[in-house]
Amino acid sequence: MLKKSQVDIAILGSGIAGLWLLNRLSTLGYSVILLETGAIGGGQTHKAQGIIHGGMKYALQGSLTSSSLAIADMPALWNSCLHGKGLIDLSQVKILSQHQYLFSTGKLAGKLTGFFANVALQGRVSALAKEQFPQVFQHSKFKGVVYALDEMALDVHTLLHALVKPHQDAIFKIAVPALVTLNNNQGIKALTIQSEQGHIVTLEAKKYIFTAGLGNELYAKNIINPVIATQRRPLHMVVVKTDFAYPVFAHCFGLSSTPRITITTHQAKDGKTIWYLGGQIAEEGVHLSAEQQCALAIKELTEIFTWLDFTKAKAASFFVDRAEPSQPGGKRPDTAYFKAIANQIIAWPTKLALAPKLADDIITTLQQEKLTCSKADTAALLNFSKPEIAIPIWDQLLC
Ligand SMILES: Cc1cc2nc3c(=O)[nH]c(=O)nc-3n(C[C@H](O)[C@H](O)[C@H](O)COP(=O)(O)OP(=O)(O)OC[C@H]3O[C@@H](n4cnc5c(N)ncnc54)[C@H](O)[C@@H]3O)c2cc1C
Repeated sequence: MLKKSQVDIAILGSGIAGLWLLNRLSTLGYSVILLETGAIGGGQTHKAQGIIHGGMKYALQGSLTSSSLAIADMPALWNSCLHGKGLIDLSQVKILSQHQYLFSTGKLAGKLTGFFANVALQGRVSALAKEQFPQVFQHSKFKGVVYALDEMALDVHTLLHALVKPHQDAIFKIAVPALVTLNNNQGIKALTIQSEQGHIVTLEAKKYIFTAGLGNELYAKNIINPVIATQRRPLHMVVVKTDFAYPVFAHCFGLSSTPRITITTHQAKDGKTIWYLGGQIAEEGVHLSAEQQCALAIKELTEIFTWLDFTKAKAASFFVDRAEPSQPGGKRPDTAYFKAIANQIIAWPTKLALAPKLADDIITTLQQEKLTCSKADTAALLNFSKPEIAIPIWDQLLC
């Protein structure tokens, strides 16, 4: 016999967007379940560098538009959650760094004085005196300049744990993407979902929210009508395992206003330090092989940090696509995006930092529609297993 379940809201995809929504909507009294085909956070979220951007990077590139101003509120909002005083309790999340630093090496520092002065004028960025430099730049061979940017970096793994913990009972693993039954032009009638053990359940919800990252492509094409166009922006990221104990949270600037390399550091499970590299090198390295990209990364680090020896460092790289709604010219979207059509909502935060804004915007829509809270009937889901939380990417690649 086909089993049935009923909830107010079914969310598909347990990256930062789905998890944040699960927390917020449950607190508001809705019965919510979150369905995941892989590991929790295992799409883009656990590959994020964890920087809570406040929009300064876009201001530097002259692309701060009115909608991207929304990101400026994010650091304060995250901060209150991290101190246990916000809408979600993130007091157990590890803050890796309070600041992201901007720096330039000696040769370029002179040419970039005007650029950095302009940055400082835009606020929330301050020039540091040599004695205030982070430890890694305290070497006599470092001749550059360093600015502190008011943007923190979080440990994404502890973030995932904090978001999952209060709602473990509401998260279920599905073996394959949910099969959707449409209700003519009225949106979705039900989802057919299958557990890893082959149990099949028909799930009815008042709202279906798709936060499946790349998986949204399938739903955007086959379910949402009118179709929402999607885009992928590929990156070729590098992780480097070192013996250095320095924390490094910094954007290294060359002659362009895009960081040549964005570095965050993390601890691998064997206790060693991982330098995680994004920025221009990841965007431009998408046509390189893994071997070429790792060699380039070590060469760049050796040129930038002339006083550090990277000859024994172990590097690995991986490709990942950013999944987003399509933008003119394939550009980076300004802000979080969602579209509500009938009882379906398709959503992309476009940045980890913007997940709270995405949830706020969706909740406003649900409240305007006066979506009511009802009791869930999820007995039929008892046989569904719980997805694992994704293992940090450096531990997957280098340990
Ligand atoms: C390398 C990298 C570094 C980044 N660094 C930062 C940063 O420092 N700061 C920042 O703010 N942003 C950063 N970002 C952006 C940020 O990570 C993403 O915008 C954000 O994680 C997207 O979250 P999401 O929940 O939409 O998608 P995802 O994290 O991709 O989650 C989607 C989930 O849906 C699941 N899924 C897929 N298909 C289905 C299906 N059919 N049914 C159910 N589940 C499904 C997937 O398994 C996955 O778990 C970075 C992105 C990348 C790629």
